[in-house]
Amino acid sequence: MSGDLCVCSAEFPQPNSALKVTLVLGEEDFRPTPSTRPATYGFPMPYVIGTACVDVMHKACVLQCPVDCIYEGARSLYINPDECVDCGACRLECDAGAIYYETDLPDDQLQHLADNAAFFSETLPGRDAPLGTPGGAAALGRLGVDTPLVSALAPRDA
Ligand code: SF4
Ligand code: SF4
Repeated sequence: MSGDLCVCSAEFPQPNSALKVTLVLGEEDFRPTPSTRPATYGFPMPYVIGTACVDVMHKACVLQCPVDCIYEGARSLYINPDECVDCGACRLECDAGAIYYETDLPDDQLQHLADNAAFFSETLPGRDAPLGTPGGAAALGRLGVDTPLVSALAPRDA
């Protein structure tokens, strides 16, 4: 550690390879690992994508995720809470300010905590089973469906 920066190097497991990443994060971005993460809201939830991603989805965050756990719906992206390793790289890359650590969500976006998790734990419209933990978003590609909460949001340019 030097000054206000924490330089971290870590290896994250991938289905077919080991991906080594180096992260340079401000101290405010250091978060506990999933194994030590408290279930603040009754279920474990790390980083969360909020309203600002809806109808934006430029996917800059996806390129930064070392474990490929940011999945593409129709109008928004969703972070898989069981696959996220809490590195914070996606939040630093999101210039729309759409990504929050669970405890940083503003009050008017708290609904996205349960909604990000529901994208994986509930059966989405047009599918016959929950996504669960697929182990990587790239293999699935664009899913083209959202949670009922995101689907009901007004179009961004309306
Ligand atoms: S970088 Fe932000 S706005 Fe862009 S797709 Fe990711 S979460 Fe959405
Ligand atoms: S914090 Fe973001 S970049 Fe890091 S593992 Fe979780 S979703 Fe991926």
